[in-house]
Amino acid sequence: MLAGAAARRPDHPALIFESEEFTYGWLWDQARRYAWVLRAGGVRPGDRVAVLLVDTPQFPVVYFGVLAAGAVVVPLSAMATAPEVDHVLTDAGARFLVCADTLLPQAKEAAERLGTVLLTVGPGNVAQDATPIDESAVPEPDDVAVVFYTSGTTGEPKGVMLTHRNILYNVDRMVDTPYAFRSDDILLGCLPLAHSFGQICGMLTGFRAGISIVLMSRFAGPQALALMRAHRCTVFMGVPTMYSKLLDAVARGEPTPRLDRVYSGGSALPAKTLDDVRTAFGCPVYEGYGATETSCSVAYHHPGVPFRAGTVGVPINGISVGIALPNADRVELLPAGETGEIVVSAPTVMAGYLGRPDLTAEVLRDGWFLTGDLGRLDGDGYLSVVGRKKDLILRGGYNVYPREIEEVLAGHPAVAQVAVIGVPHAVLGEEVWAIVVPARPEDVTPGSPEALVAWAKERLAAYKYPRRVEFTDALPTGPSGKVLKRELVSKYE
Ligand code: ATP
Repeated sequence: MLAGAAARRPDHPALIFESEEFTYGWLWDQARRYAWVLRAGGVRPGDRVAVLLVDTPQFPVVYFGVLAAGAVVVPLSAMATAPEVDHVLTDAGARFLVCADTLLPQAKEAAERLGTVLLTVGPGNVAQDATPIDESAVPEPDDVAVVFYTSGTTGEPKGVMLTHRNILYNVDRMVDTPYAFRSDDILLGCLPLAHSFGQICGMLTGFRAGISIVLMSRFAGPQALALMRAHRCTVFMGVPTMYSKLLDAVARGEPTPRLDRVYSGGSALPAKTLDDVRTAFGCPVYEGYGATETSCSVAYHHPGVPFRAGTVGVPINGISVGIALPNADRVELLPAGETGEIVVSAPTVMAGYLGRPDLTAEVLRDGWFLTGDLGRLDGDGYLSVVGRKKDLILRGGYNVYPREIEEVLAGHPAVAQVAVIGVPHAVLGEEVWAIVVPARPEDVTPGSPEALVAWAKERLAAYKYPRRVEFTDALPTGPSGKVLKRELVSKYE
């Protein structure tokens, strides 16, 4: 894929980082040199090579270097703690770790303990003196390309094995569709490259289309807007918490760039945030839905179908989406309009969880992948995501879907971000609480929690509205910027 892009447009910038441009020709050359470094270091086809880097042009060089050497990439978040690095290295059985020298403190101990070969990378080019390998060890389509450790929003990180076929199928479907990147696009690449969203939907889909990506190592609202203006970005792709931060920076007077379109995914984008983003940037907002286990995208809004509020659009070509009766022994599909577990059948569905046939058998059943998300399809095939099965709140025998309450509270002008959780309750089992980041500090007054409860009470059934609202400065987020509800529940229970 990268060789193709380098042959088509060798002098076009693939990456822009700190005002320096790195062309497709450079990237492919560097990747083949790094493959040589890896080979010389003892990496053999099929070896798992963990990668712990900051998001600079080194990341794609090492990433494609590992693949060109016929090995498997195990990306680690730059924010991973020492125990998380230890878990991934152990679980993945990674024989090698490519690590930025600045991130060594997180990795050294585990690498030493496990006898992992450490390949340290300093600033600058990683493979200047190496010889580019002529021929890459061409992998088979069903060879594993990447093992992603899911961000652990809902539990212990597990290694999702994606094959070359899985990933390329998704990338090609996305490049084929009308909402796709165009070769003259410039994307702000601020989603972490170690995470499936930033890596597959951003970097790989972008390179397949031959676009330029302005890399940003660590997201912050004002700097993101400044970078987009300076580099005349045409597209932005992010998770909802990033949109809240961009809107906050705009509200504080930061000028908005002129964008052609923006993409959101990773978690639910509240309707009000979507409207505000559309107004602030004056361009369409395309929300998508997917999971690491499905090589990223499952359904998307795109210009080819009319926008339908409250949905994540329609399934991508070649990807079948069904709604199944939750917690049943066999996958039994429900008719349109009914809420159940979202299940996916597609060439993009993972090969399994590494070393965990038990967990794999729980989610790969009867030809479907069970996403663990609840949702419904309407008569026209639009998908709505109701929320995660694990986030469902059981209050006094009633099912309460946090997403619905979050939507209502997000509509209040004093609310910048909100997460609704179930907190243990002696009589009801669980009680509904809302944790709110205020739009402005002056929005927090002695009566404001009650005012928000009243706002929700007016708009929601009696069993649903939150009985308590707590203000906080920020919601805890994982490396991909998603809210970690698990942490919130343990804080407030
Ligand atoms: P873990 O699987 O360990 O909990 P994670 O949840 O962050 O980690 P990902 O693969 O990054 O794993 O995220 C996929 C999940 O993100 C989906 O299953 C779904 O719950 C949620 N998600 C993604 N896009 C959307 C969306 N547009 N609306 C609502 N939820 C979404």
